[in-house]
Amino acid sequence: MENEILKKTDKTYEEKHFLIGELLKEYGYITQEQIDIALKVQKINNTYLGEVLLSLNFTTTQEIAMTIAKQSNIEYIDIDKKIITEDVLKIIPHKTAKEKVFLPIEIKDDHLIVATENLNDIVTIDYLNKISKYPIKLVVGEKSKIKRRIDLEYSQLQGTIESQIEHIISDAANSESLDTIKLIDLVIDNAIKDNATDIHITPDIDIFYISFRIDGVLSFYYVLPKTLMYHIISRIKILSSMDISEQRLPQDGSFSHIFNDEKYDFRVSSIPTDNGENIVMRILSSNTSAFNIENLGFNDSDIDKLKKLFNKPYGIVLITGPTGSGKTTTLYSLLRHVNFIQKNILTIEDPIEYRFPFIKQTQINVKSGYTFDKAIRHFMRQDPDVMLVGEIRDKETAQLAVRASITGHLVLSTLHTNDAVGSIPRLIDLGIKEQILSSSVLAVLSQRLLRKLCTSCKKEYKITKKQLLEFGFDDDYLKELSDEISIFKKVGCDTCKNTGYRGREAVIEIFTISDKIKDMINKKKSHFEILKQAKLEDMVTMDYNALLKVLEGKTSLEEVKRVIL
Ligand SMILES: [Zn+2]
Repeated sequence: MENEILKKTDKTYEEKHFLIGELLKEYGYITQEQIDIALKVQKINNTYLGEVLLSLNFTTTQEIAMTIAKQSNIEYIDIDKKIITEDVLKIIPHKTAKEKVFLPIEIKDDHLIVATENLNDIVTIDYLNKISKYPIKLVVGEKSKIKRRIDLEYSQLQGTIESQIEHIISDAANSESLDTIKLIDLVIDNAIKDNATDIHITPDIDIFYISFRIDGVLSFYYVLPKTLMYHIISRIKILSSMDISEQRLPQDGSFSHIFNDEKYDFRVSSIPTDNGENIVMRILSSNTSAFNIENLGFNDSDIDKLKKLFNKPYGIVLITGPTGSGKTTTLYSLLRHVNFIQKNILTIEDPIEYRFPFIKQTQINVKSGYTFDKAIRHFMRQDPDVMLVGEIRDKETAQLAVRASITGHLVLSTLHTNDAVGSIPRLIDLGIKEQILSSSVLAVLSQRLLRKLCTSCKKEYKITKKQLLEFGFDDDYLKELSDEISIFKKVGCDTCKNTGYRGREAVIEIFTISDKIKDMINKKKSHFEILKQAKLEDMVTMDYNALLKVLEGKTSLEEVKRVIL
């Protein structure tokens, strides 16, 4: 959890944070009930109120920054979405940026835009106005994010991580000796810096190589001579508490790594291949501020709909989509909006990736027989309100989840189907009777992740309606478009490492089970007929939502085709 924002900076700190509590309440981010609990916890922990509010997941660093912004009538920006160029960065010296936590963002309308949370630091603001050619315009950003970005951007000015890695590798190729510990540290740093989700270390016949998964796509990074592989693999296995002498059986392990004062957990897996052990390291950030439903790419009316669904007293809400489509992130982001003080929330996960206060999280353990279905049985004796079941993949779990939902509990889970409506036949496959299904399932959300076009290099071009049709979009969606439409395509630049994309966002469809649809399920109507009815009832399908993102210039047609069509 990032608490930098709450470090003691001045004498009025305590008052300021009491004020933050009041302001957060005023802006509707937290409730009086939450403040009261935080005050009780504060007495035990002896820390500041804001810090307690954050650690209890009652608020986020983003909400705090937005509150400061609203209070001062200054614009809030998500600095992670901004690309900062070298010449802008150089306007503010590293030392000032770091000590005072002021980050130059861009030159806009003849002003230097600077992000900070320290709006009252008049001395620094005066100084910045003096050293900059442009007058300063302040915007509010999250302090923890600004600090992280300052470390990252200024260290990049010296080109450190990449060049150090290249150096070690070329040295090793000549001398066959390797500073393994340093190399692995740097590779991990670089993966975190580039927002990778996984690091792959892959043996081949004469070489081995390291690649990162970024925005859902593998990207090739380093090639090393095979002679060095043993050292690298051994180092990672030691780090992850695996048995280094065992090379013929798959192993799992884990470790943590600190990068720029932030802790990252790594889940490591090794399997023996023909060419040697193949290692994959999943990167898990302990920073739960990513779980902000507003940041995932949903539109406001969908967010509203989903928050309401997650606050229903009973029934099932399902999220479908392939592995890596962001289902867990969506589930947790929405769980934050369930009143977890008044409701007893239990989870069964495989495995627990992120920990949340007030939620009773459990993890399946196949060896000792603790499985999804077993967990639901036991949860029933734990006075539950909400159960989050990691995945429904067998008949037993499906039956129990449905039973729990019709006996007055809200069940949240995920399912593997292609589209939202497809969950109906899938549940029937899993042995759920139509009548029971129609009276338990409230809605199904289907989700994919689309890469966002890099804003530094994307290029506008014109396309005809006919071409859009050929791409596979429904005729109905295109009716209101003119014959020629301006959209964007990928190009590639340094900022996006020539991929043309930076970051991803969710594209979804929400299938709500209306009375009419219940009736159709009971009458065993086909997938096609139910889908048609859902569209009549204003379900916005995933491909239409994706088309909207193309028309807004957020993503490309090629990306939509890759992921959805
Ligand atoms: Zn680019």
